[in-house]
Amino acid sequence: MIIDCHGHYTTSPRQHEGWRTQQIEAHAAGKAAPPRPTITDDEIRQTIDGGQLKVQKERGTDLTIFSPRAAGMGHHLGDATTSEAWASACNELIHRVCSLFPKNFIGVAMLPQSARVSPRNCLAEIERCVNHYGFVGINLNPDPSGGHWQDPPLGDRYWYPIYEKMVDYDIPAMIHVSMSCNPTHHTTGSHYLNGDTAGFNQLMTSSVLKDFPTIKFIIPHGGGAVPYHWGRYRGLAQDAKLGLLSELMLHNVFFDTCVYHLSGQELLAKVIPVDNILFASEMIGAVRGVDPETGHHYDDTKRYIDQLPLSAADKAKIFEGNARRVYGRLSSTIERQAATA
Ligand SMILES: [Zn+2]
Repeated sequence: MIIDCHGHYTTSPRQHEGWRTQQIEAHAAGKAAPPRPTITDDEIRQTIDGGQLKVQKERGTDLTIFSPRAAGMGHHLGDATTSEAWASACNELIHRVCSLFPKNFIGVAMLPQSARVSPRNCLAEIERCVNHYGFVGINLNPDPSGGHWQDPPLGDRYWYPIYEKMVDYDIPAMIHVSMSCNPTHHTTGSHYLNGDTAGFNQLMTSSVLKDFPTIKFIIPHGGGAVPYHWGRYRGLAQDAKLGLLSELMLHNVFFDTCVYHLSGQELLAKVIPVDNILFASEMIGAVRGVDPETGHHYDDTKRYIDQLPLSAADKAKIFEGNARRVYGRLSSTIERQAATA
């Protein structure tokens, strides 16, 4: 089985994002949000059949671990109440996709975060998504202010209620920022990769991984700048007397393969142990074009893994085994959802 651990519902029906615009406008005007729009199963089927499912079939992947559109989380917009209503609507839609296509999609929750609001307010939504929807992970935004970094770093006890819940439920968090509202940081070209890199560094310089020895984090987009600068982080850890970087981080921190060229994948697989790499493409997502140098989509990352000089057993870990290990609830959810198909 080939499991893509990083996909977002970027093709959701128009009225879903339309409602979000109305909700934020109503909030700004001090009014109540309008009722949520009707979205039929057929409308959802259409967006998936012609979108993510079509791409899965074309590229020969089987299952996508699926979450709401990341840039659309918009935690800097509105307030805690609007974030709660929006996260609830987005997660419900993911649940509907997973129910309509139980063999192809398994859910991951977006959280109702807001800048400078304690993440404690996310716990009820995590419980709902795991217990009622069967979701297997969360996307945790280390910067709900959208590029202004107004919350404490991930090492701060501020975040511990979320970590306690993750350990309790055996669900990992992908550290994933949302849209940038700071014009100096392009959302997908700069803010995403900065978020990945900053998240890793914040965990490295904290006691989170000691305080929660079984917790698991996925750093998306190939780990931002981290694998390329592994020597820098090894040196920083050494200078700070934190010990060996691999001992410090690699029991709990994993990297996905959303790197859009072969040389980058080669570097990732050379620097990061195979046990810590999870296959992902983030399709349909940030980069949608075809690479003129290869004639294939940049985000067709399976092609790069296929070309790596690794054994079949190692590739099976990247494509499937590691995801089953990192997402503790994944294997049972695959079985349960397959039984409903
Ligand atoms: Zn993403």
